[in-house]
Amino acid sequence: MQQRPFRLGARRPLIIAGPCSAETEEQTLATCEALAREGCVDVLRAGIWKPRTQPGSFEGVGPKGLAWLAEAKRRTGLPVATEVGSARHAEQALAAGVDLLWIGARTTVNPFLVQEIADATTGSDACILIKNPMHPDVALWAGAVTRFEQAGIPRERIGLIHRGFSTGTHGRYRNDPMWHLAFDMQSRFPGMMMLGDPSHICGTRRYLQEVAQTAANLNYDGLIVESHCDPAAAWSDADQQLTPQAFAELMRSINWRAVKSEDPAYVRTLARCRAEIDQIDSEIFDLLSRRMRIADRIGEVKRDNGVVILQSGRWSSIVEKIVARSAELNLSEDFLRTVLEAIHLESIDHQNRLMQP
Ligand code: PEP
Ligand code: MN
Repeated sequence: MQQRPFRLGARRPLIIAGPCSAETEEQTLATCEALAREGCVDVLRAGIWKPRTQPGSFEGVGPKGLAWLAEAKRRTGLPVATEVGSARHAEQALAAGVDLLWIGARTTVNPFLVQEIADATTGSDACILIKNPMHPDVALWAGAVTRFEQAGIPRERIGLIHRGFSTGTHGRYRNDPMWHLAFDMQSRFPGMMMLGDPSHICGTRRYLQEVAQTAANLNYDGLIVESHCDPAAAWSDADQQLTPQAFAELMRSINWRAVKSEDPAYVRTLARCRAEIDQIDSEIFDLLSRRMRIADRIGEVKRDNGVVILQSGRWSSIVEKIVARSAELNLSEDFLRTVLEAIHLESIDHQNRLMQP
C-alpha cells in the first residue's frame, strides 16, 4: 500500500465510514467501493483486530485484512483507518500504509497498552484518533492523548473520538453520550479535532440521525459511522450498521452549522440573551445562598434540640413537589432530580459542619 501523507485538519467535516469489521475481501471491497461511489466519505474504516467482550465472538480477520484495506485504498483513492490494540498491531498497520490508526475504547482504559502503542508510532507520519475510554473517566482519556504527545506525535496529528460511555444501565442509547465529558476534553486540548461516533453511542440504526445531528450542532469536526454492504449479515455490530446508500442519505440529512456569524441582528440578539443569562445565573446563586442561610438556621435548631440532620420524609416531599412541575417548568425530571440532589448535599454539608465539635 503506497504511503500518502494524510492530514487530519484538511477537511471539515471529516467523515470516516466503513464496516465495523473487515470480514471477507469481497465484503470489505464491496462496502468501500459503494461508499466511495456515494461520495460522502473522506476516509474508509474497517476493524481488522476486534476486541470483543465475549471470547468466541468474531475477533477480527487479523493481518490478512490489511491487504484488503490496501486494495480498497488503491481502488478508491481514499485513505484508510483501522483500530490498533497493541504495539504489534500498530507496527503491522503502519508497515501496510494505513493512514489513520485509532485506539479503541477498551484500549484507552489501559495505560500500559497505550504507552506501547505510542512508542510504536514514534517517528511515523500516521494520524492517531483516540476513543474515549469505556467508563466516564476524562483523566484517562486525557492521559492517553498526553502519552502520544510525549511520544512525539504532534498535536495536529492527534484527534479524539467520542463514542459514549458504558454506565451499566441501559437508557435510550447503548453508550451514554455524556456530552459534557467531551466538552471537558475540548477544554483540556483546545483545537484538537473531535469526531462523533453515533454508531457506538446508539447501538441501533434508529437514533443515528439525532445523535449525528447533535454532534454537528455541538460543533464537532466530523463523524465516524459504521456502514456494511449487508448490515443484517454483519459479523459484528449488525444492529447499528447502515448500507452505503442509507449512510449517504444520513450524511445528506445532516446540517453542519457555521461556527459563527457576523450578521448584525444575530450578534445583537446573542449579546442581549447572554447578558440576560448572566443576570439570571447571578440571581440563581444569590437565591441558593439565601436558601443555604435558612438551612443553617434549621441546622442550628436541630443541633440545639439534639435532632439528626436527615429527615427523609421531608426531603422526598420536596423532590416530589418539584418533579411534579416538570412539564410546566419545561425541565426534565432527570435535570430536576440532579439539581435537587446537589442542593440537598450542600445543605446537609452545611448542617453537618454546624454539628461538629
Ligand atoms: C469500533 O469502532 O468498531 C469499536 C470497536 O469501537 P469502540 O472501541 O468504540 O467500542
Ligand atoms: Mn463496531
